[in-house]
This record gives sequence, structure tokens and C-alpha cells, in this order.
Amino acid sequence: MTAQSPPVVALGEPTLGEPELRAVAEVFRSGWVAGNGPTGMRFATEFARVVSRAHALPVSNCTAALHLAVAALGAGPGDEVIVADYTFPATGHAVVFTGATPVFADVRADTANVDPAAVEAAVTERTVGIIAVDALGQCADYAELQSIAEARGLWLVEDAACSAGATYRGRPAGSFGDVACFSFHGRKGITAGEGGALATDRDDIAAQARKTHAFGIESALTRAGSVDLQIPEFTEIGYNYKLSDVAAAIMLAQLERLPDLIASRQAVAVAYGELMSDLDLLTLPVAAPDRTHAWQSYVVTLDPSVSRGAVAQELRGRGVQCNFGTYASHLQPVYRSTTPCPVSADLFRRHLAIPMHANLGEAEIERVATTLRAAVLASR
Ligand SMILES: *Cc1c(COP(=O)(O)O)cnc(C)c1O
Repeated sequence: MTAQSPPVVALGEPTLGEPELRAVAEVFRSGWVAGNGPTGMRFATEFARVVSRAHALPVSNCTAALHLAVAALGAGPGDEVIVADYTFPATGHAVVFTGATPVFADVRADTANVDPAAVEAAVTERTVGIIAVDALGQCADYAELQSIAEARGLWLVEDAACSAGATYRGRPAGSFGDVACFSFHGRKGITAGEGGALATDRDDIAAQARKTHAFGIESALTRAGSVDLQIPEFTEIGYNYKLSDVAAAIMLAQLERLPDLIASRQAVAVAYGELMSDLDLLTLPVAAPDRTHAWQSYVVTLDPSVSRGAVAQELRGRGVQCNFGTYASHLQPVYRSTTPCPVSADLFRRHLAIPMHANLGEAEIERVATTLRAAVLASR
């Protein structure tokens, strides 16, 4: 970097520091660093409380949580699962893991969340469930989705990978549907580098997922403390989807920060709104009035007359990181999907993610807005 070039404004950045380091030191001293230990159990209890669920199961990542959820709900070959199209394609992958077929449903242009009417239209006699995604950190339309699921006898999964800390009608993200799945990947609002959790009120799903996430046997902790030499039996084939207790310790510290991290991101969104709402060539993201947004990403929709490639090049050249929004799953070659999702395809082409994280300062926010304004005006 030359002396003249200003430091790069990161698109996303974790907020990790002394509390997480202290938590890691403590788990080192405890001697239990593998998964399913005492720290993991503490995190599970705390996380279940925060997301208002009877059970939470820490797992290695959100894709694993989605796989466990869809499998525990009984999906398999011949079944169709309706999946919100505009998402990181891991949502669809989890369905394919079980042998079931994802059927993508289009999204709303304003929130990028799955359109309940599109879900309704996608139901066939083979449909067994729905996976809604809290797109970019904002909860989907759960009142409408829940009534479709109930009327049609379908299960509902909430992909809450991006929405920890968000709310919908006063209830926390992750409290909707039969199961909710979270990600603690480095690009999400709370993180242990990699990680995830499954949350549910259903005892049957919790028990099945707990077993399948650890090879198909009961956890070592349930045997610890007994003087008998208990030999666990493998009654089914499971996976190794455990979260290490090192990661769980980090997550306990992150969970304490969650309200502050959300408040910081909300302040960034408010500032962007004040600085850019007069710009006709882009549409700023909206938070629906009955929900609070976790702002995992801040994504603007560029006017069709604006070249996204040119804007991105200009921003990056000036040290402001940016990216596309997320994926239109149905356009990914692996899915060979024939279902059109025109709104999702349009957002995939026109969305531009700009820096959003809890560590952004006022000067950086202003620099992003000024640089974006100039780039958009110059790009036509
Ligand atoms: C990040 C993400 C995932 C995958 O999460 P991992 O923890 O990386 O497996 C799944 N769904 C959505 C919507 C995501 O944003």
C-alpha cells in the first residue's frame, strides 16, 4: 500500500477480542476441548434461551444444521422441499443431501425474502416441507408461511444463518417453524470462525438431530461421571457435525455481545439511509415495520441503467470493498432448475453489498457513501 491510499473498508468484519480470548483460555484450562463437553452444553442452554426455543444443538456449521433438520423431519427420495431461491445455495444442498428435491420459490423484490404466494404456487402432492430464509439478516413472512404450512400439512424450517438477533413481531429470529438453523461463520453477525446451531421446540427432532450429529450414538458427556464401563451402541449411521468446546466458548462470549453488535449494525444502516436516500439511481434496503433487521449484509439495488461491474471496480479501486448480494439458487448449474424465479434473478444481477459490520466508524461510513455516490453517478 502506498502512503496515499487510504486503508481498505472491509465488507464484513468479525468483532472478536479479549472476552473471546479469555473464554478460550478458560476452556483450555478445563481440559475438554472436543465437542459436546460442558462448555458446549452451557452454550446450548444459553442459545436456546436467547432464541426462545426448548432445545438448541451446537453444530459445526449451518449447512450441517440444515441437513440434520431436513433429515430428522423425514425428507427423502421422491419428496419435494420448497426452498427460498435467493440464498447461499447451502440451503438447497441440505435438501439434496437427503435425496429429496429442492423446488425453488421466488422472493419479494423489497425484502428479498421468499414470497408466500410463490410458496403456495409451488406446492404439489410431493411437497413435504418449506425452508424459508431470513435473507440478508431479516426475518421472512412467518405468519403467512406458517398458515400455508399448517393448511397443507407441511413442515417449516427457518434458515436463520444470517439473522441471529433479529426479531419478527417481537419474537426472536430462530423461533419460527419446526426447526431453525444458524450459522456462526466468520461473515455472520456472531461468529466462532465456523460454527452453527439447530434450534427447535420439538423433543423428537431435538433427540434425532442430537444423535445423528454425533455418529449415531449418545454423547460422551451423558456417560461421563458413571463408574460403570458403559459401551454405547451404534443404532444408526450418523455424521460428525459437532461444534468443538473451543468454538462454543467463543460463542458464549459472542452471545453476550449480540445486543451491542446488532445496535452497532443498526446505527450503520441508519447512517447509510441518511447519507444516500436522495440517490435516485439506487434503492436502499428496507426493514419491514414489524421486524428488526440483523443487517448481516447491507445490500443496495442499483437502477438497471447503472453498470454494477463499473461501480464495483470503482469502489474496490478506492479501497471500499463490495460484492454481489447472494445467489439466485435456481440459476446455479448444479440445480438444473427449470422453475423461473424472475425477481430473485433480477436481485442477483442488481444487488450490491457494501461494507456492513459492527466496527465501522463514522468516517468510514461517510467514505463509503461518498465513494458509492460518485461511482454510481459516473457509471451510467
Ligand atoms: C452462510 C449461510 C449458510 C451456510 O452457513 P455455514 O455455517 O457456512 O454452513 C446457509 N444459509 C444461508 C442463508 C447463509 O447465509
